Amino acid sequence: MARIDLDHIRHAYGTPKSEADYALKEVHHTFDDGGAYALLGPSGCGKTTLLNIISGLLHPSEGKLLFDGRDVTDLSTQERNIAQVFQFPVIYDTMTVYDNLAFPLRNRGVAEADVDRRVRETLEMTGLAELGNRKCKGLTADQKQKISLGRGLVRSDVNAILFDEPLTVIDPHMKWVLRSQLKQLHRRFGFTMVYVTHDQTEALSFADQVVVMYDGGIVQIGTPADLFERPKHTFVGYFIGSPGMNVLPVKLDGRKARLGEQIIELPGAPTSAAGSIELGVRPEYVHFAADGMPVEVTKVEDIGRHKVVRAKLQGEDIALILKEDDSVPADAKVSFDPAGINLYADSWRVETGS
Ligand code: ADP
Ligand code: MG
Repeated sequence: MARIDLDHIRHAYGTPKSEADYALKEVHHTFDDGGAYALLGPSGCGKTTLLNIISGLLHPSEGKLLFDGRDVTDLSTQERNIAQVFQFPVIYDTMTVYDNLAFPLRNRGVAEADVDRRVRETLEMTGLAELGNRKCKGLTADQKQKISLGRGLVRSDVNAILFDEPLTVIDPHMKWVLRSQLKQLHRRFGFTMVYVTHDQTEALSFADQVVVMYDGGIVQIGTPADLFERPKHTFVGYFIGSPGMNVLPVKLDGRKARLGEQIIELPGAPTSAAGSIELGVRPEYVHFAADGMPVEVTKVEDIGRHKVVRAKLQGEDIALILKEDDSVPADAKVSFDPAGINLYADSWRVETGS
């Protein structure tokens, strides 16, 4: 396993004329040895580009890549000793499932007894034990993807395992099973794993550290709790959570924020606050309160374990979460839990002093 340093990496497909032509804006970051990371962001934000630069499928336009301090920028995937699992199956149709899994090991000259042990373990882990002797041709897309996943997991001597939305074609229940397996595997062997997904549930359940990407850049790297409690950018607030964070335009006055005619007490005075100011508060931190700010409730969505209430507050849309058994009061007023308030200047979070 290896520590991976991305040293001022940038990438443009074609010749860049301006900053906007970079599919990947500057990334300068370290993936720790043995860490479980997720790259999370919407389609087109540069996740695959970054992953392929790490694996060596893509040579970055600028910057260097280091594995344990050694410059590997000009080395091939093979030389970097990386396993990569793609979104769609990459397998040999004419071989058996067993031989497909054995292939990466035999390719490296692993002794046949070890090959057999590793392949059997991997068949077990991916739920393919019954299919070992079957030819891959004719298997379902779902089964083929499990084989693909198995090929990524079968070697134990890799520097890192990279996954690019590997569970897209897998059915929901099996998705959950495989994700738990990956997590277990990570705990057991301590592989450095980088897992690309646009699905927050996948990212938050798999990774210790989630790297949130937006428009070619990294906007925040943090634990699932960091991303939930202290989104560094309003995008992270919107993108993580269901529904996402409420973001409201406010005017500041010391420790107070003014939203239309309402005054909201802040947990502290902002340390700096130039630019356009917004207050972020997740629906989990908005509560009905008799002495709160009047709202007009527009919709109540019952989604099982709780309800999502949509309302207008001073003309702004706001969502709040209500426990399943609670109901919307007649004269609805809301207040914000100070612990859940974040402030943003031009979309970036500003610290509040005490
Ligand atoms: P993601 O994996 O997050 O969906 P990608 O890394 O695939 O995003 O793409 C990032 C950006 O680079 C997108 O705007 C995409 O259109 C562009 N892009 C990706 N691959 C190529 C390519 N081979 N040639 C030109 N542009 C590309
Ligand atoms: Mg992609």
